Amino acid sequence: MYLISACLAGCEVTWQGGSNSRERFIELVRTHRAIPVCPEQLGGLGTPRPPAEIVGGSGEDVLEGRARVLTREGSDVTEHFLRGAREVLRLAEMVRPELVIFKERSPSCGVHSIYDGTFTGRLRPGCGVTTALLHRHGWSVASDEEFAL
Ligand code: SF4
Repeated sequence: MYLISACLAGCEVTWQGGSNSRERFIELVRTHRAIPVCPEQLGGLGTPRPPAEIVGGSGEDVLEGRARVLTREGSDVTEHFLRGAREVLRLAEMVRPELVIFKERSPSCGVHSIYDGTFTGRLRPGCGVTTALLHRHGWSVASDEEFAL
């Protein structure tokens, strides 16, 4: 069983209210091989919602209290991101997935790179908040860009 970013599996949960749907990921859910999760929704954020980026570091830095998650307008949504990460961890501990498949570059789900906190489209190395928490507890996370069926 996999856990998968809900937006990859066709759920319209991105900040803009759309999805990053791909047929092979939808098929994993359709055939009961994956459970879709959206950390930002589980953290209590609505859809659509203002775009947010990690400012001052990576998901790991957010867990350590060294960086915050802010919207473009400057609202601090760090607690929502942390709550969503904890909920996904709770699901992982129930489901015990062999792999988590997450959307690259998201401030929650990014695996190898995330936006750099300037809202200019620039990337920096590092993972999102939920990925960092899952890594910390020993779960394997692959990005949608490296996952091969
Ligand atoms: Fe997709 Fe993750 Fe963003 Fe939710 S938080 S929309 S699952 S990338």
